[in-house]
Amino acid sequence: MFSLAPVEFRERSIAGRGVFARRRFEPGDVVVPYAPKQRRVGVDDPEALAAAGTKLTLLSGGEWVIIPNTEVPGGWLCNHSCNPNAVIYSSGEGRIQCVRAIVPGDEVTIFYGWVTENEPERDPCLCGSPRCRGFINFDVADEDAFAPPDSDPGRAFSRRREEYGAFLRSIDHEHVERSIDNTLTTMRSRPRSVDPHS
Ligand SMILES: [Zn+2]
Repeated sequence: MFSLAPVEFRERSIAGRGVFARRRFEPGDVVVPYAPKQRRVGVDDPEALAAAGTKLTLLSGGEWVIIPNTEVPGGWLCNHSCNPNAVIYSSGEGRIQCVRAIVPGDEVTIFYGWVTENEPERDPCLCGSPRCRGFINFDVADEDAFAPPDSDPGRAFSRRREEYGAFLRSIDHEHVERSIDNTLTTMRSRPRSVDPHS
């Protein structure tokens, strides 16, 4: 497949299969399409919700999600790094685009920006970057969502968020802060019928 020749898909990367450059890429270059074979379904489609559980969906335009056909390798195989050399774009068919020079043999990595609830250690990170944060996900606990801002837990969460926000800005991923806001809004809008600490 000519369009995929600039990269190859190999085992033995950061985690499972990964995407490796076969030529040089400069910032702005498209490295690989997200999913050469794909389907789109609406965000509320049961299939989209099921696919979200497998971490294999790409939100596109907020109205539909792209579900890759996993028989065909593509950018959906990119591993996460805390110091990524590429970024994922969800517009159109979805694509992986270079943000730092990539040389042949380099693994092409993106920043997942996952936000979890009450699962602080869900996704250990093995990226090996000197800036590695230890976990791929940023977690929001009930205690974070419901602590009064002027309480000790409230202030601790605020400091952790500010530190993460500064990190996100340093890698041009400040849009992940919206996911944190959305998560907080969702958590706070849910009826709290059960005390999570009981
Ligand atoms: Zn890492």
